[in-house]
Amino acid sequence: MFLTISTTGTAVNPATDLGYLLHKHPDNAQAFSTSYGTAHVFYPEADAERCTAALLLEIDPVALVRRGKGKGRGGAPDAALAQYVNDRPYAASSLLAVALGNVFSSALRGVCTTRPERAAAPLPLRVEVPALPARGGPDLVRRLFEPLGWAVAADPVPLDTAFPEWGDSRYVRLLLESDRLTLAEALRHLYVLLPVLDDAKHYWVAADEVDKLLRAGEGWLPEHPEQKLITSRYLARRWSLTRQAMERLELVRLAEADDSEVEDIDNAVEAETGTEEKPAPLAVQRREAVTEALRAAGAARVLDLGCGQGQLVQALLKDVRFTEIVGVDVSMRALAVAARRLKLDRMGERQASRVKLLQGSLAYTDNRLKGYDAAVLSEVVEHLDLPRLPALEYAVFGHARPRTVVVTTPNVEYNVRWESLPAGRARHGDHRFEWTREEFRTWAAAVAGRHGYEVAFTPVGPDDPEVGPPTQMATFTISTEKEAKAA
Ligand code: SAH
Repeated sequence: MFLTISTTGTAVNPATDLGYLLHKHPDNAQAFSTSYGTAHVFYPEADAERCTAALLLEIDPVALVRRGKGKGRGGAPDAALAQYVNDRPYAASSLLAVALGNVFSSALRGVCTTRPERAAAPLPLRVEVPALPARGGPDLVRRLFEPLGWAVAADPVPLDTAFPEWGDSRYVRLLLESDRLTLAEALRHLYVLLPVLDDAKHYWVAADEVDKLLRAGEGWLPEHPEQKLITSRYLARRWSLTRQAMERLELVRLAEADDSEVEDIDNAVEAETGTEEKPAPLAVQRREAVTEALRAAGAARVLDLGCGQGQLVQALLKDVRFTEIVGVDVSMRALAVAARRLKLDRMGERQASRVKLLQGSLAYTDNRLKGYDAAVLSEVVEHLDLPRLPALEYAVFGHARPRTVVVTTPNVEYNVRWESLPAGRARHGDHRFEWTREEFRTWAAAVAGRHGYEVAFTPVGPDDPEVGPPTQMATFTISTEKEAKAA
């Protein structure tokens, strides 16, 4: 696997500054061991006018197979052979991107203490990848790189030069040129887009891949026209991660274009992330179900506990019957995003008097939460470790004691219906548990019993005859109130 990066220069700004920017001296050939083999960095040419750095990754196919264990396809002999005999050693796959990230990590972040002004300025750059697996072909290669300011040449590599009639392979010879980008930007484009074009991640995609993607995508991914394809392929088409990433990208866009319409971002996000969560955006259905339950309870002053980024608070604000809406979250960052979403700083006095955001933990009793009509815990309980749950139970049902409490949580039985969710995995990296309908009902009934509430259950989303709905909702009401009403 091979990749070269070249630049040109002058006596004043010599091309060999590339060595400083990459933190790799042009006179030395260096080798770095990575989990999949050895990465070599060397400079085929290095003078004031032209300097080229090469990254060569020598794959150890045995290590690759060993690392990949557990996600293989199970014992078919040809599949086993294909693990060893494949294009990995020479094609620039996701592994080259991993090596790039490791070997040039400072350069990727644009860090260069010796030549900071050079690191911050655009350079004349030329990047060459002789064999790039490009699922989607030359056309997709152009759609990915051109919007970023690259001039792109992507020539298909024939399957076999001796037999032109066999046609082209899925590889292209990639040549990128630009003088509008900094080296860090260029490296970050490659770091993300090489695996996207390869479209076959060769290592396990973990939850922190979303962070990696957003970090590497900073400054270009939020506005990229192929953002959805990039995100979903980079995250190996894992639906839950893709959705997370799309939401966070949307928030970045909102933060940057502060004046843009904030309208229902989930609608937009979910319409974009597409097919898997059809027919309807579940987050929207959930908010509607919760809002309906609050209306039915006749609640006016409402707590949204674990409000996250404030989508429900925003929805409730649209209905004037909710006279006071308080969002509570332990995360300052979530609250900051919520404040921005709600445009709290620019809200009219009347609106502003209806809404408040509080930082606090639901694992502790909090007098500020007393005296409200209703509290919502939407997709929150599953974020607490099970042993912490009794503390939340007491803080909400024992101490704050609103007349109505609406709780939603995923129904784990439904997970088999999410096609892209690997069996046995939770929907969200931070879910500490996900309950079956039976488990949720058992918990809810016990809570109601301990604190003098009655509880009723409502399905949210399509109620599958076999596995139930994707979201389960419980509405708790203080028993005495019910009796008083009945009397
Ligand atoms: N209610 C929102 C967000 C759910 S995500 C929705 O339905 O979309 C869960 C939220 O609970 C996160 O914002 C997290 O910060 C918050 N949270 C988790 N543990 C908490 C705790 N102990 N106290 C307060 N908030 C908590």
